[in-house]
Amino acid sequence: MKIETQCLHEGYEPGNGEPRALPIYQSTTFTYDSTEHIGKLFDLAAEGHMYSRISNPTVDCVERKIAALEGGVGALLTSSGQAATLIAVLNICSAGDHIIASSSIYGGTFNLLDVTLRRYGIECSFIDPENGDAAIEALFRANTKLVFGETIANPAITVFDIERFAKLAHRNGVPLVVDNTFATPVLCRPFEFGADIVIHSTTKYMDGHAVQIGGVIVDSGNFCWTAERFPGLTEPDSSYHGVAYTRDFGRAAYITKARVQLMRDLGASPTAMGAFLLNLGLETLPLRMERHCANAERIAAYLSTHQKVEFVKYPKLPGNAYYERAMKYLPLGASGVIAFSIRGGRERAVRFMDALTLASNVVHVADIRTCVLHPASATHRQMTDAQLEAAGITPGLIRLSVGLEHIDDILADIAQALEQA
Ligand code: PLP
Repeated sequence: MKIETQCLHEGYEPGNGEPRALPIYQSTTFTYDSTEHIGKLFDLAAEGHMYSRISNPTVDCVERKIAALEGGVGALLTSSGQAATLIAVLNICSAGDHIIASSSIYGGTFNLLDVTLRRYGIECSFIDPENGDAAIEALFRANTKLVFGETIANPAITVFDIERFAKLAHRNGVPLVVDNTFATPVLCRPFEFGADIVIHSTTKYMDGHAVQIGGVIVDSGNFCWTAERFPGLTEPDSSYHGVAYTRDFGRAAYITKARVQLMRDLGASPTAMGAFLLNLGLETLPLRMERHCANAERIAAYLSTHQKVEFVKYPKLPGNAYYERAMKYLPLGASGVIAFSIRGGRERAVRFMDALTLASNVVHVADIRTCVLHPASATHRQMTDAQLEAAGITPGLIRLSVGLEHIDDILADIAQALEQA
């Protein structure tokens, strides 16, 4: 099936007389006829839902849909994108381990990797993703467990060279984890370029309507975990009476461990209602992405010719440093998110934002409604100037998330606000 069809039909197939729309299984638990059956569920020897922290029928359908969209063997919905990143990392990293991440990533992920996980003994080396292979190779250590990057970085709007980083990671025996939030599987499927694990903040385009906070981890099933580097996946799990994930679950080892061990213990589970809302968003994702991209291309072109605009970052804008790479990874479009800077820095940027009437000033992005954010005063506020620079964020940078309104109305709003800036 093509992705438009998958978005509508994967994951849930009603039987005769069953509801056409995905039902919301608003139940914490599920009944069984025998204690023996429940015992089998606990032994992972039978399939079925027992408790909604671990799995739930509504959530399960949406997980199957997203796994299909990304081309993976399985997926795990989480309570937020942050929880997805946390679990994706903790699933293969413990105190004493090391990871390598692109410096050009979402500020919340940066904090998680740079501050919080460091406090728990997991060290992160941040790299300029445009550095040459030799500089990146030099960072790998015996305790390195993964490489992390974002397909389209928030808010630097750079394009990550997934294929190159997959090769570098694999040469050093570790998986590549890619945050594919802005691209969505409609615009880019990182597994096709060698990524091993994909995560999303489903809060963004996948939902698209700003009605639920959520995340997802998708496992390609392609990484070979059996090297000594990943004992958590190969050796018996004492918290699960001796399950050895690679032995017992084969290609689904990573995603099974994430669910039955980490989701069980950390409890960052999604709600059935949240999954239902996410599914409504997923059903129209391809249509929405097409319009987001078309509108954003028009807005980026307009901004790039405006005298008050210092620069525009949009990979599909001819002349953009990532244009060629975007043609490879994002042939259908580069999402609706644009970053641009107004001449005159922070003060004028704020004046522009406050003058907008249609676009809203919100801590959000990738929504059906056009919205703006000033990263240096909001999402990336915790970063030092040097860290901001490494993430590609100038004081006057505005992140504009182009919505689905009529292009003329968006253009008119931007034009009048620029006049006042
Ligand atoms: N990854 C990216 C690229 C994001 O933009 C965000 C949030 O903005 C996250 C992860 C975190 O997701 P959430 O806000 O759903 O926890």
